[in-house]
Amino acid sequence: MALYTTEGIVLKTQSIGEADRICTIYSPGKGKVRAVARGARRPRSRFVSSTQMFAYGDFQIFTGKSLDGISQVQLKESFPRLHDDLVKLAYASYVAELVSEMTQEGDGDQTVFDMLLAYMRVLSETPDPQLVTVAFEIKFATVLGYRPRLESCQECGCETLGREVFFSPEAGSITCSRCSAGSSGFVRVSCGAVRLLEALLMTEFAKIERIKANRGIRREIERLIRAHLGFRLNRRPRSLEFLETVTKTP
Ligand SMILES: [Zn+2]
Repeated sequence: MALYTTEGIVLKTQSIGEADRICTIYSPGKGKVRAVARGARRPRSRFVSSTQMFAYGDFQIFTGKSLDGISQVQLKESFPRLHDDLVKLAYASYVAELVSEMTQEGDGDQTVFDMLLAYMRVLSETPDPQLVTVAFEIKFATVLGYRPRLESCQECGCETLGREVFFSPEAGSITCSRCSAGSSGFVRVSCGAVRLLEALLMTEFAKIERIKANRGIRREIERLIRAHLGFRLNRRPRSLEFLETVTKTP
């Protein structure tokens, strides 16, 4: 039985048996790790808070035959505000699902880990969870090698794009209005929205809330980046329904 310790953030939890909990943890060295915390759902368990969603800590893990096990956790941060605020909980759950579904076991990435931790910290404090989350989405897509190409038309190469452009989730790039005439499957976006996405990509999380954007442009960038990630994921993230329910504006 091998034992190792890794830093990690809990992305997903699943109840099994009478009181056990399987955690999917993202670690910088090993990527996704799945391990069971025995008895974690018992009220007096030492694992109660350290194996909850978004818990950040040092996990001591032993390798098992079919499933690894958590033997000890040194909890560093538990992000209580993400559990107390329904909207923030929904955003954090969505991002946790993205990371869980778009990364592999045994393939860690320090940049993804640092980005996720920075996102959770800023999300806890920010009055603008929506913009911070879109920033995570575009930064995450970029780190995975799926940076949307927004600078010029993919067909004719022109850089003077006029007032609106057409984004193809499949190609991950934009087409000008002349080249996209008559085609379908595009997401229509204003040039203001494209500029905002570029600004979010270039800005560190802690400074995102200084960026101003109206509701219409926010909707556009959300649609664009979710269509982009949805295509890569090959399905709609399950947690999007909850997110859309709690953020719906009348
Ligand atoms: Zn064109």
